[in-house]
Formats: sequence, C-alpha cells, structure tokens
Amino acid sequence: MPVKTEWDLKRYFYESLDDPKFQSDLADVLPKVREFARKWSEKLKRVGTPEELATFIEEEQTLSESISKPAYYVSYLESLDTQNSRVLKAQGEIDVMFIEAGNLLLFVSQAWKEIGYDRLLEWSKSPALAGHANAVVHTAESIKRILGEKEEYVLNVKSRPLGTAGALHDELVGALEFEIEEDGEKKILTDAEIRALRESPSREIRKKAFESIAAAYLQKPVQIALGASYSGILKNWSSNLTLRGYSSVMEPRNVSEELENEVVELLLSEVKRAYPLFPRYLKAKKKLLGLDSLKNYDVFAPLSTSETPCGLEEGLALHLQTMKDFDAEFHDYSIQIFESGRVDAFPKKGKKGGAFASYSKNSESFVLLNYTGKLLDVPTLSHELGHAIHGKLSQIQNGSVFDSPLCLAETASIFSEMLLSEKIRERLDEKDYAGFLSNEISDAFSTIFRQIQYVSFEKRAHEAVHSGKELTYHDYNQMWREEQLAMSADAVEYELPASEEFGWSSIPHVFNSPFYCYAYSFGHLLVLALYQRYQETGKSFVEGYKDILRAGGSVRPKELLAKYGFDISRPEFYRLGLSILEKKVEEFEALAYN
Ligand SMILES: [Zn+2]
Repeated sequence: MPVKTEWDLKRYFYESLDDPKFQSDLADVLPKVREFARKWSEKLKRVGTPEELATFIEEEQTLSESISKPAYYVSYLESLDTQNSRVLKAQGEIDVMFIEAGNLLLFVSQAWKEIGYDRLLEWSKSPALAGHANAVVHTAESIKRILGEKEEYVLNVKSRPLGTAGALHDELVGALEFEIEEDGEKKILTDAEIRALRESPSREIRKKAFESIAAAYLQKPVQIALGASYSGILKNWSSNLTLRGYSSVMEPRNVSEELENEVVELLLSEVKRAYPLFPRYLKAKKKLLGLDSLKNYDVFAPLSTSETPCGLEEGLALHLQTMKDFDAEFHDYSIQIFESGRVDAFPKKGKKGGAFASYSKNSESFVLLNYTGKLLDVPTLSHELGHAIHGKLSQIQNGSVFDSPLCLAETASIFSEMLLSEKIRERLDEKDYAGFLSNEISDAFSTIFRQIQYVSFEKRAHEAVHSGKELTYHDYNQMWREEQLAMSADAVEYELPASEEFGWSSIPHVFNSPFYCYAYSFGHLLVLALYQRYQETGKSFVEGYKDILRAGGSVRPKELLAKYGFDISRPEFYRLGLSILEKKVEEFEALAYN
C-alpha cells in the first residue's frame, strides 16, 4: 500500500499561512462569535422549551466547528516546526483571539443557571434533547455550584492573582537549570533531558541525574516559593469548596470527571490494597539488575537496552496483523489513516517530541509520531492509532457529547497496546523479553499506582488546609515521603531524608489540576478489565467494546460500563484489572528467581 509518512495538511486544511482562505477563515472567527453572542445573550436565559435549548446547543456546536479549523491548522504546523517564528506568531494571535471569544461567551453559563438545575434535568429526558442529554445533565450538575452573577463577578475579579500560583510553579520550574558532569565535563541540561537520564543504563549517571534534580529543587528559595504557591492553591480550592457547597475536597474533580464520590473512594482504596505488588516487582527487578540494594535512582533503571530494530514498514505490518486478528474496522482504519496522509511518522528538526493523536467532532484524526526504527516504537504507534480510531468511532455522537471524560479517553489506546504486546513478545529472546515485561509493568505501576499515590498526597494536603491547618514545604515533604513509603514499603532505599523529599513540587498536575491524576489510574484499570473480558469471551467481546468507544461522552461512565457488565461501584471491577497486573508480576518474578 502507498504509505504516506508526512501529514498532508494541504488536503485537509489550507495551502499555507498565506492562503487567502486561511486568512478569511481567521478573520471570520470573532465576527462569528459576536454574531452568535448577539443572537443568544438575551435569548438563552429565556429559553422555555427543550426544543429551543436543542437549537442553541446545535448552533453552538456549528459555531465551534466553524471557528476551530484555522486553529487546528496552526497548531499542527507548530507541532511540525516548533521553532518557526511565523507559525509561533500566528499561534500567539490565535490564542489572543480565543481568549476574547471566551469572554464573549461568558453569558452562556449564567444563562444556563437562569434556566435552572431542575428544569435542565427534566428537559434532559425530553426526546428533543436526546442526542445531547448527558451534556445537559453535566451542565446542570456544574451550574448547581454557580453563585449569583454579582458573586461570580467578584470571585472572577479577585481570582486573578490566585491564577498566577500555578503559573508561578511552571515558570519557576521551567527556569531551573540542571547541572551534570559527564566525561569530566560540566553540562547544563533541561528538565526533559535530565529526566530522561533517570532511565540511563549507567547507575552512575542515574545517580547523578537524581542528585542534579534534587540540587535544583532543594535550593531554599525554590522550596519556599513552591511551598507557598502550593499553599495558596490549597487555600483557594478550600474557599471554593465552602462558597460553592461541596461535600469533600475531591468533589469538584469528581463532578468534572463524571464519577460518583463513592466510586473514586473505592478506586483509591482498592489500588492501595494492591500496593504490595509494587515492592514485589521492585525486589525481582533488583535481582535481575544484580544489585545488593535498590536505591531510589534504580527504580527506573532499564533491564535490557533492547535496540531490536524494526523499520516503519515492518512495525506497521506488525500492528496491522495485530488489528486484523482483532477486528476488520481497526485494521482497515489503520491503513486508511496512513494512506491519506494523516500520520507524521519520523523525527525532524524542530518537530515536537513524543507522540499524540488529535481528533474532534467532524474532523479527521491526525497522529504524530517520532518513529526511530526500534521495535519499542511500535507500541506507541498502536497507542496513538487507538486514539485515532476512538475519535473516528465516536463521530456518531453530537459535538456536545463527543469527547469522552479522561477516565475513558485512554481506552482504545492502551487496549491496542496490550493487543500488540502479545505479538511483540513472540519476537523477543528471554533477556529482551524480561526488559520488555519490566517496562510494561513499570508503565502500569506509573499510571495505576503512582497516580493514586499523588492523589493520596493531595487529599491529605487539601484536607489539612481545608480544616484550617497552616502548612509549609516542610509538611509537604514529610507527607510525600509517607505516601512513597506506603507504596514502595521496604523495597527502595531513599537517599534523601524525608525532610528533603521535594517530589511533590515537581509535578505540574498537583499545582494546575488538583486530583486530575486519578483518572489515568481508573482508565488503565478499566482497560485491564476489558482485556481480561476479551481473553475470556473472544470475538463476541468486540462489538460491545466498540460500542463503549462509539459512546464518546454521551453516557456517564458508570451507566455506560454497567450496560456491558462492569459495575464500577463494586470492588470486583478493580480487582479484575489488578489481578492481571498481579499475573504479570508473577511472570516477572518467575524470570527473576528461576
Ligand atoms: Zn494516550
């Protein structure tokens, strides 16, 4: 098949930034938003029937699709060339434009509030709103917490300095420099570069990388600033809880993630119950690494540096074979996205690192990879193509309920990776397989366990501040170490004393999106449970699985999964996923101790 390895943006967007169509689409953004605001700013509050509300929602979707095309185009150009000043300038202009558009649309949430929680819930059951029901319910839930127009105005004005607390974290951390000595030469590395060295095969380099990160974060002014800014965030969150009447510190996040409070509590307690798997894995890893003691800088050590080559053509063939065995639509879509120029496969100068898939209602999925020609690049390919097909399958939903909540958004991606891992396994010798399995388990611990460790820390810190305690970085350091020990038990020897445990201060989500991390954990456990079901039931599983993907964000996760026999309010659901992880740990132990 004629595979294209670069994005064909001309086919889907514009000729270039100079294309008159691009210029005119861009120039139309704000006038279109103004026109929409003029039409609806008074009318929306007086909407009296579900039919009228449906008209509003549909027009809002049409507007958002019609203004987003130039924005997507520029963001894709930027991903291909992050250094291009012309593109960066266009991006800057678009950012400003969208902030203004957001301001013009501020009337929407107040108008929803005037329609009122009870009426919205009632209307959400009407046939006129059938295709938007979950969006209406979700909005009703969030407006329950919106105060009056005057109060919201005061809060908005007063919140401006508080908004800078998270930004301070990013700016300060972004300015840190990491010094390291390599071959007798001192080098200054960026955050991403120094973090990558924590996975170096050389123990000495890993140790130095950790020491360098610690030295940067443990500068007293840095600790004070990050501690004070975190306390500011906690206090702001706490006053929001009080003013808006939430019952627990995590509830605002649970509302936005569409998960019930009890479900999230159950997720936390079930994962903690399984914590002992982590030290078991680490002890086996220590054995395979041939170490007497496992230091904190050995946790991410690679077991084998598998450089097994695998060109793109071969990697794609492996992915296609995997999908063919699973489902024809997954297979055909993977070919089609490559043939039509929507995968940008190879690293290029200035191109964004890592990999992503991007999709939205009524637009095609695009995938960016940095394929370097190793077997270990193939899981990333399968992961991102999984996202892409999820975006394709949920096109049957309306724009208002197209996006799945984060806890469902990684379903197709991780599931595709798991399917592929069976195929990869056949190609590796025992040593490389141990390394591959170790990576796979380590990734699962990172998404399932470590995210819960973060959230447990956050919960303690938030609850303490919400109950009126004053905390400083000394307290956060101590709490972080306690949460680390809960997970790693006696398997890790920490170099730093608890009083210097700065780890929490290096995690952007802790500052910018409190409690967000648990959704990763939930999502990964869900995939393990689905995978287990697939193993048990085979082909008959596939249509139900695709229905879950097709549902997008149209049904709350609890109801959606219940339809397919997964009760997320029961411990068994979490234990099903965790039992697969346990089996993998057992397999890994067998490799270590036999
Ligand atoms: Zn992903």
